Amino acid sequence: MLFGSIEAGGTKFVCAVCDEKMHILEIVSFPTTTPKETINFVCKFFNKYKNNLSSIGIGSFGPIDIKKDSKTFGFITSTPKTEWQNFNFVGTLKNSFNIPIIWTTDVNAAVYGEYIYGNKKELSSIVYYTIGTGIGGGAIQNGKFIEGFSHTEMGHMIVKNHPNDNFNGCCPFHGNCLEGMASGPAIEKRLGKKGADVSENDEFWDIEAYYIAQCAYNTTLLLSPDKIIFGGGVMKQKHILSKIHKAFEEILNNYTKTPKLEDYIITPKLEDKSATFGCLFLAKEAIKC
Ligand code: ADP
Ligand code: ZN
Repeated sequence: MLFGSIEAGGTKFVCAVCDEKMHILEIVSFPTTTPKETINFVCKFFNKYKNNLSSIGIGSFGPIDIKKDSKTFGFITSTPKTEWQNFNFVGTLKNSFNIPIIWTTDVNAAVYGEYIYGNKKELSSIVYYTIGTGIGGGAIQNGKFIEGFSHTEMGHMIVKNHPNDNFNGCCPFHGNCLEGMASGPAIEKRLGKKGADVSENDEFWDIEAYYIAQCAYNTTLLLSPDKIIFGGGVMKQKHILSKIHKAFEEILNNYTKTPKLEDYIITPKLEDKSATFGCLFLAKEAIKC
């Protein structure tokens, strides 16, 4: 019995197949282009395993429709990526693979991977944010995703400007929301170069940390989770974690007690495989039930 994973990102797709012991047999990555071309790649990859493939977990960029009784369940909905707007992801895949397909957001998949595998289900509440091309968040409370009429959209929370930052933000919907101020493209638009090319000593990283710390602060007050995890491309700047801790402490101003910051605001234990493992576990669990 084999299980499949599709981490569908706005920039790249990562597909993987694992066995019942969760050993990954193959993992591939390719750029996100048109839905037709990208899904062709996906099908080609899984076709090799078709005879033994039991289920597939998808963690997709969004927004997506996760409501089972909705006519557009399984669709990517109002994404700024025009070619993917209203794309019937699950339906298209079902045409080629008539097996259980589990459908959630990329960040829900990542938080699930960290919950089940990274932290061995020891935590009751855990939140994961990706700080990448976009900013998104997923949360688990007592083993279940937190969701209401739809999935969460925590990456678009409003933040206040750092006193030394006069950037107006680049979110097409809100300007200076968290994604508009702190995502990879926000850094690039503000500084005229990619985050990876900004020196570790640049004062900008205090500004970046200030926004991520506001996110951690808001999350602490809303959910008081056991852990807040920050992953994604921008967090490859490992040095900003201590700056985030410092800014968080200043913003919180001793208002509530939190776990020790080094154990509380952290980077992913599974590094860049959180979502892949999350999707694989979701796929495996769908068959167990
Ligand atoms: P995606 O969000 O598209 O799935 P990533 O999580 O890798 O992919 O995020 C990509 C974003 O992260 C880009 O905007 C890129 O400029 C930024 N990024 C990648 N590496 C670094 C780095 N070392 N330092 C700062 N920013 C980075
Ligand atoms: Zn926004």
